[in-house]
Amino acid sequence: MIRRLSTGVPRRLQDQWNVVIHSTKTKSQSPSPLMYAVKDNIATGGETTSCGSQMLDNYQSPFDATVIDLLNKEGFQSIGKVNLDEFGMGSATTNSWYGPSVNPVYQDEPHVCGGSSGGSAAAVAANLCDFSLGTDTGGSVRLPAAYCRVYGFKPSYGRISRWGVVAYAQTLDTVGIMARDIDTVERVFDIVDKYDESDPTSLPNTLRDQSVEQPKNYVIGVPLEFNVDELCTEVKQEWIEALEYLESQGHKVVPVSVPSIKSSLPAYYTIATAEAASNLSRYDGVRYGFSGGVGDFATTLQRSRDSLGDEVQRRIILGNYTLSSASGDHYKKANEVRRTLADQFNRVFSKKHCLLDNDNCGRCDALLYPAAFGPPPTINEFEAETRENFVNGYVNDIMTVPASLAGLPTITVPRGLGLQVSAQYNCDATALAVARLL
Ligand code: GLN
Repeated sequence: MIRRLSTGVPRRLQDQWNVVIHSTKTKSQSPSPLMYAVKDNIATGGETTSCGSQMLDNYQSPFDATVIDLLNKEGFQSIGKVNLDEFGMGSATTNSWYGPSVNPVYQDEPHVCGGSSGGSAAAVAANLCDFSLGTDTGGSVRLPAAYCRVYGFKPSYGRISRWGVVAYAQTLDTVGIMARDIDTVERVFDIVDKYDESDPTSLPNTLRDQSVEQPKNYVIGVPLEFNVDELCTEVKQEWIEALEYLESQGHKVVPVSVPSIKSSLPAYYTIATAEAASNLSRYDGVRYGFSGGVGDFATTLQRSRDSLGDEVQRRIILGNYTLSSASGDHYKKANEVRRTLADQFNRVFSKKHCLLDNDNCGRCDALLYPAAFGPPPTINEFEAETRENFVNGYVNDIMTVPASLAGLPTITVPRGLGLQVSAQYNCDATALAVARLL
C-alpha cells in the first residue's frame, strides 16, 4: 500500500515504520514549495480518510477540509495520509486498525511515536515531508512531537478551522502543525490561521490577535504543579537548564501556581469521552462506515459497531455512562473544573483574555514546562502497561491536557526530551516567539 515517496528514504524503512497508511497520487508535476503529510482524520477529497479505524477503512470524503484547501492553494503537495490512534484516542499510535507506527528516532528496539498524531510526527522526523498536520485534543500533537524530537504546535482553540476534521471531542479538538524547524511551523500557521464561516467555533477576525510585536524581554512563568514525581532526571535537568538559559539572556523567570492542573486529567477524560460517545454515535454502518451485514436492526448495529477497536469502545461506554443520569453530575463538575482552570491560567498572564471578562493580574508572557515525563517507552513496554491497566495509557497526558482544557496556544520545542511553551489564549505569536528563543 505504501508507495515509495520521492524523499530519498528507502522503502524498506518506510514499510518498517508503518507511517503512511494511504498515499496520495501526485496531482501536478509542478515543483511544489513544500511537501506535507496529513493525519488520517482530516478529510482530503476523493481519498481515504480512515481515522485509523476499520469502521472507515474505505471511506472517501467528498470534500477537502478547509485546512487542506488553504495549503493546496499555496501549491503545497501532500504525500498522503498518516497513521494515528483510532479516532485520535490514544497516546502512542498503537490503537490503529493499521497497526502501530514505529518511532524513526530509535534504531534499536521499536519505540512508540507518541499519539495520537504519531504518524504525523514520525513522517517529519523521518524526513518523509517538510511538515505535517495533526490534531490535538489533549496533547496529540505535543506528545508525539516530544517523542520524535520535532516541533509540535497546537494553536489556540478556534484559530485553525475544524471544518473537515473528524470530531473526537469538539470543544477540545485543534488542528496542529509539526515540522523540524520553527520557520516552517510559522510559515504554515500563517497560511492556515484563518477565520472560516463553515466552522461555528472559528474565532472571528475582530477578536484575533494580529499583533506580532513582542517585548524585548519576556516574563516566563514556571507552573509548580508540573513538577511532578514522575518526571525523569534528564527532563528536570533540561527544564532547569532552559530556564537558566532564558535568564542569562535577560528574561525573567518566576514561579507560578495553577492549582487546578492537578484535577485536569480526570476532568479531561470525563469531558472528552462524553463528547466522543456523542460524536461516534453516527457510525452505525447504515449511512456509511463498516456494515455488519443484513439482519435485524440490533444485530446489524452491534456487528457494525464491533468494528471499532477496544479503546474506542471503552471510551464510548465511559462517555455514555457520564452522560447518563446514573453518573449524577460528572459532566457538569468536570466543566466546572475546566472553567476554574481557565480562570487560574488567565490570572498568571499579563495580557487580557479576549473571551473571559474577569481581570487578570499576572505578569507572565509565557509558561515553560516539560511535554513528557521521559523518553518514549518501547511498543512492548507500552502495550504491557496498558494491558495491565488501561489508565496507565492516560497518565502521560498529565503534562498536555491542562493547556487543551484552557484552549491555550502551546508548542513543544525539541530541546532535550521536549519542553512546552504556553501563552495566553489567542497570543499564538508569543508562544512561537518564546519557542524560537529556545
Ligand atoms: N491521549 C489523549 C486521548 O487519548 C489525547 C488524544 C488527542 O489529543 N487526540 O484522549
